[in-house]
Amino acid sequence: MATKNSSRRQSHRAANTRVRSKNSHSEIVIGVDIGATKVAAGVVNAKGRILQRNVAAMSSSGDAAAGFSSVIAAISGLIPAEKFEGKLAAIGMCAPGPLDPKRGVIINPPNLPCWRNYPLAAEMRRHYHVPVTLDNDGNAAALAEAKWGAGRGYRNVFYAGIGTGIGSGIVLNGQIYHGRTGAAGEGGHVGIDPNGPKCNCGKRGCIEVLASGPAIAARAKRKLAEHPESLLLKMTHGDLSAISSEMVGKAFADGDVIAREVVEETLDALSYWLANIIDLLEPDVIVIGGGVSTMLAPFLDQIRNRIKVSCINPSPDGIPLVLAKYGEDSGIAGAVALCEG
Ligand SMILES: [Zn+2]
Repeated sequence: MATKNSSRRQSHRAANTRVRSKNSHSEIVIGVDIGATKVAAGVVNAKGRILQRNVAAMSSSGDAAAGFSSVIAAISGLIPAEKFEGKLAAIGMCAPGPLDPKRGVIINPPNLPCWRNYPLAAEMRRHYHVPVTLDNDGNAAALAEAKWGAGRGYRNVFYAGIGTGIGSGIVLNGQIYHGRTGAAGEGGHVGIDPNGPKCNCGKRGCIEVLASGPAIAARAKRKLAEHPESLLLKMTHGDLSAISSEMVGKAFADGDVIAREVVEETLDALSYWLANIIDLLEPDVIVIGGGVSTMLAPFLDQIRNRIKVSCINPSPDGIPLVLAKYGEDSGIAGAVALCEG
């Protein structure tokens, strides 16, 4: 794995003579985070600080060229093109999978129908004449946290981004663990219940369908049908479709019994899953990020206590469970982290 990564970087560098010394103060590395509805681009320095950012709409349902134009628009809005001239050293990109990080090809992500087996890295190299690295967003966020964020200083890092889905990444000895074809690290689709609800991926009982933001909202919705007295229903003004994981967190804080049930069940699922991860990987640290991490923040101790009774690892207490440093910018930072050794 490490060998493949380094050979990939070397081949990019060898293919392009415009790559400069990494220590040059004038060089710019851009990170691009592609999502279903928007593309975020940013300039990130060698310490992981985001110096500039720009967001453009992502045309994900049009043709491949329209999708590519969205990426160019996000970068163009960042710094005028003439200022790039001679200074742009590399571009890192991340996107939802499935994708092939070794070839830089977007395969068939459900959220990006514009691209099917699309050679995004090659198209970007053709346009900007610099090395381009592509990986999935979970891997990129994991690398940013390992390098510059909450996982800094630890050798082996497991990252879980809990939001509208659950993305994850495994960083071992400072390198993303890609597996045989680049498809490893899909922790969100590790199942804990073969008879559980069906996940978007087609499997049943994945942690994503049990504990992501929409899963928490769906859990609350099901309970409210039988408990209309819950505070949660008042919060939505009677519109069940408006329920969110944030509302569940607020209702819990106000003592709502139904919200408590939802939180307890979510913590049970997450803890059981993390205990499995610990038994399998025994990482040095677990970093929790993503949009739902704010709602989960008050419950980290409860998760730790539940992990203890769900794994055979003799010292799960020795593995810190911490909140991510990067919030919305995890993709931009991660994309730039991909470009560096
Ligand atoms: Zn799944």
